[in-house]
Amino acid sequence: MTVAMDVLRGRVAIVTGGSKGLGLAMAGGLLRAGASIAVAARNGEAAEAAAVALRALGGEAMSAACDVRLESDVDALVEATVKRFGRLDIVVNNAGINIRKAPQELSLEEWRAVLDTNLTGALLGARAAYPHLKKEGGGKIINVGSMFSIFGASYAAAYAASKGGLVSLTKSLAVAWAPDNIQVNAVLPGWIDTDLTRRSREEVPGLADRVVARTPAGRWGKPEDLAGVAVFLASGASDFITGAAIPVDGGYSVLG
Ligand code: NAP
Repeated sequence: MTVAMDVLRGRVAIVTGGSKGLGLAMAGGLLRAGASIAVAARNGEAAEAAAVALRALGGEAMSAACDVRLESDVDALVEATVKRFGRLDIVVNNAGINIRKAPQELSLEEWRAVLDTNLTGALLGARAAYPHLKKEGGGKIINVGSMFSIFGASYAAAYAASKGGLVSLTKSLAVAWAPDNIQVNAVLPGWIDTDLTRRSREEVPGLADRVVARTPAGRWGKPEDLAGVAVFLASGASDFITGAAIPVDGGYSVLG
């Protein structure tokens, strides 16, 4: 379903990992709802291509090359966004990677790459944004978790640790910043068709069919399935919701 409202007119949002997949779809939802968008990814050319596509939807978008594992990159992203658009209201901490391996085969370097991207990157994004959100009298932070925020898998120890930790981080930030009128929530996507899961389907035999069989909605998700919840959590409609982790999974996590 296309989200086309004006509830975010005048707001400014950063979406990390916004060059493709869920990040680009959420950025599109926020833009169509009236927000100006900064999309960030390590590949600056891909981020700029995403910004061009977003501008074609009829709104304001900029791009930045940013590695969320690097404090200096994240601080520079926030500063560049505020310089360009004059304010910051919304941060979507979406950048994420997975390295599929049995836990005993994970190197320390691989563990750190996943944790640094998925968990530490979200803290860096939220922390850099905080003074700007506070200055506006409030704001919204949306962290992108996963079904592995809830479940485990033999091939996803680092990923699941990062996504479980992200929900705990979300709750603590929500408590800390509620007095500043900053709401911090997580979305937990189910199995969505993106480059990330295309690799999973290649590497995990039978996965594509197992997901459909186990999902009450009877299908894989599309990136656009995340757009509506992003707009909701970025808008005043969710002002009394904070510290929540909302599954967006076609019922995957509630099937008994
Ligand atoms: P994707 O298509 O692989 O896109 C990942 C995005 O993150 C890209 O823009 C990528 O750009 C960026 N990225 C990766 N590492 C980064 C870093 N260190 N710094 C900045 N950007 C970085 O993946 P996706 O499926 O859309 O996933 C997006 C998020 O949703 C992730 O957090 C993922 O864990 C989560 N998620 C996805 C699913 C699903 O089914 N697809 C389910 C649950 C959760 P560069 O490579 O250029 O940096």
